[in-house]
Amino acid sequence: MLDLRRFVRDIPDYPKPGILFRDITPILADPQALAAAVEALTEPFLDAKIDVVAAAEARGFIFAAPLAIRLGAGFVPIRKPGKLPFDMHSFAYELEYGTDELQIHVDGVKPGQRVLIVDDLLATGGTMEACCRLLEKCDAEIVGCSFLIHLVQLGGEARLSPYHVHSVLSYD
Ligand code: 5GP
Repeated sequence: MLDLRRFVRDIPDYPKPGILFRDITPILADPQALAAAVEALTEPFLDAKIDVVAAAEARGFIFAAPLAIRLGAGFVPIRKPGKLPFDMHSFAYELEYGTDELQIHVDGVKPGQRVLIVDDLLATGGTMEACCRLLEKCDAEIVGCSFLIHLVQLGGEARLSPYHVHSVLSYD
């Protein structure tokens, strides 16, 4: 079994002093690590009859398309304001400084469709919570949230209850 942890590069003080950034680009650059990451993100949901994989830009997109193909599902993008061309739902959420907003096409996911949401990393949970709220506006059935990395001490998992949260690598 490939140890994916070896491919996560720690970058101190990025993007600002005091933050330890977990850089996943070494995983993306290695064919075996990339395949293992896609497999590990997908594995609990192989028999879950997923209709759609959804993800927020930008790093979530990287994993969402291969996951969708692996699961026989479609892919729906969740984007920052000003990027989607059709009618959309929006959800604004708090950041440490200021607010951010994510959007999804109103017809991106049909009512009752079974959705898996994927992202590279779970920190405070704000991004994934916003994705869940948008999919709830679409009346989707959220089957789970799948992350490559979970920064456990930031408490993001609690914000995602009652959904099934799967993470491949956990860091204390
Ligand atoms: P949250 O909304 O859970 O606080 O932050 C998670 C989002 O920020 C994810 O979309 C993720 O891409 C990005 N993010 C925050 N910190 C890191 C990090 O250390 N490494 C990577 N790769 N992404 C991060």
